[in-house]
Amino acid sequence: MSDSPASTAAGETPEKRDFIRQIVREDLAGGKHTAIRTRFPPEPNGYLHIGHAKAICLDFGIAAEFGGRCNLRFDDTNPAKEDPEFVAAIQDDVRWLGFQWAELRHASDYFDVYYLAAQKLIRDGKAFVCDLSAEEVRQYRGSLTEPGRDSPYRERGVEENLDLFARMRAGEFPDGARTLRAKIDMASGNINLRDPALYRIKHVEHQNTGDAWPIYPMYDFAHALGDAVEGITHSLCTLEFEDHRPLYDWCVDNVDLAGHPELLEPLLARGLPKEAGKPRQIEFSRLNINYTVMSKRKLTTLVGEGLVDGWDDPRMYTLQGLRRRGYTPAALRLLVDRVGISKQNSVIDFSVLEGCLREDLDAHAPRRMAVIDPLKLVLANLPEDHEESLTFSNHPKDESFGQRQVPFSRELWIEREDFAEVPPKGWKRLVPGGEVRLRGAGIARVDEVVKNDAGEIVELRGWLDPESRPGMEGANRKVKGTIHWVSARHAVEAEIRLYDRLFTVADPDDESGGKSYRDHLNPDSRRTVTGHVEPAAAQAAPEQSFQFERLGYFVADRRDHAPARPVFNRSVTLRDTWADKG
Ligand code: ATP
Ligand code: MG
Repeated sequence: MSDSPASTAAGETPEKRDFIRQIVREDLAGGKHTAIRTRFPPEPNGYLHIGHAKAICLDFGIAAEFGGRCNLRFDDTNPAKEDPEFVAAIQDDVRWLGFQWAELRHASDYFDVYYLAAQKLIRDGKAFVCDLSAEEVRQYRGSLTEPGRDSPYRERGVEENLDLFARMRAGEFPDGARTLRAKIDMASGNINLRDPALYRIKHVEHQNTGDAWPIYPMYDFAHALGDAVEGITHSLCTLEFEDHRPLYDWCVDNVDLAGHPELLEPLLARGLPKEAGKPRQIEFSRLNINYTVMSKRKLTTLVGEGLVDGWDDPRMYTLQGLRRRGYTPAALRLLVDRVGISKQNSVIDFSVLEGCLREDLDAHAPRRMAVIDPLKLVLANLPEDHEESLTFSNHPKDESFGQRQVPFSRELWIEREDFAEVPPKGWKRLVPGGEVRLRGAGIARVDEVVKNDAGEIVELRGWLDPESRPGMEGANRKVKGTIHWVSARHAVEAEIRLYDRLFTVADPDDESGGKSYRDHLNPDSRRTVTGHVEPAAAQAAPEQSFQFERLGYFVADRRDHAPARPVFNRSVTLRDTWADKG
């Protein structure tokens, strides 16, 4: 790990005391474990979203805080849906968040161990080959109020089961013809324990194992044993797996990899350690944030239907999208800390996410000047060729950011909205005949408003008070407002992408009234304008964040920015502009 996940903009690193960390502490103190092992187990069927950041920070964070190790394990038990593009992006995202895995594994690394484990269950009379069709299995399963019925194949003999299972593995039967099922309890109040399937037949090529396997293990079986194989001590997952915990424990206990090292034999051939443990599953609540959709299915639809420009569209809630938007790893880690870990389901307000980004960037983003809706201000009392270089500090609260030179000349770009011919009440910026401070340069007055034939304002002509220049006696003379500017001759034209929330409603997932999240897209979630940035901003490296003074936090676009052709994305405004929208 490159730096502490808990180091925040505020510089505080309070010890985290959520219930999972308390369990870990007790397990270490009581000697149940001497080393902590966790894993992050994404299914490579899409890009990671902001919810995954919570799981990543928890899995990797706990390992780091307690001197343990965290594996990245791709849960690739569902071959039809997986894609190497997702595998690469997930690794990129985990590293970007600031974490490094101890081992990179795949559930498919253990397929032969799972197979031996299944044979053991058969030999122990705890699993059987079932010939019921998927539909029949459903009919036999019962419901929440009714017990299920035993499969007619439940009492098959061990030898017959072993033979059929071997033939399933040899590819003799078509998809869906048979399953291997655990023999647990068809009357259990927990439907997951009603003889759940452990293996299914699927003649599908797998990204790692090719066509070696026509049968694939089911998630619960593979996940529990994968954790055991890796010696995971605390298997952390979200609340929807709570009902699966009895099955998880059943798999761990009945296969008992730790007590049966012969089942781990295939690992030797791969150079993997032949030791296993007894993992404990612990559930925590998912991260939910309003104004977002997070399910992979919906994110996939947004991309597939062209409602956004790909997985890393800066409006997307994927980690790639947030990164391109200018979200920082520190901001996301701060969010996870702030939200905390519990079993309580809740929805976090979007402003909390934005607040975390502001807090990080306020502390860590250098300041620059940029004008996004330019109006020319000519300081007519300066000579045509007037040119000077002003010294600006890069950060008002942190001298270590150093200083830079900002060119100043007779013609400036200022923000169109900083001038009003007829000012509203309480106006503090420019008006005809009025004065304003030009940030770091002096006090200017507007003498003349130049309009085109259509009556639109095209230029302001004015006067710069020579006594108000930096270092002069009148430099501190009081005026009501201060505005930012760039020197027209020196500024670099820039494409500025003004992003806003992708959805207009707090709960885009709400389908009442026959609506879907597609109906709640914010038509103003992206506006592209041509602005002007000071030369020191144009020189930014891709992904460099700045505060453009008075405008917000912006990031040099990862893909499109170049110093000769700057492209900046607005990451977040300076204040929460949604607070008054209700
Ligand atoms: P989704 O259902 O959103 O498509 P998923 O749960 O199918 O996501 P996985 O790849 O299976 O995605 O998730 C990997 C890990 O991330 C799991 O341990 C899962 O519990 C966790 N995770 C997924 N979504 C969230 C979330 N919103 N908050 C916290 N953890 C999450
Ligand atoms: Mg999942």
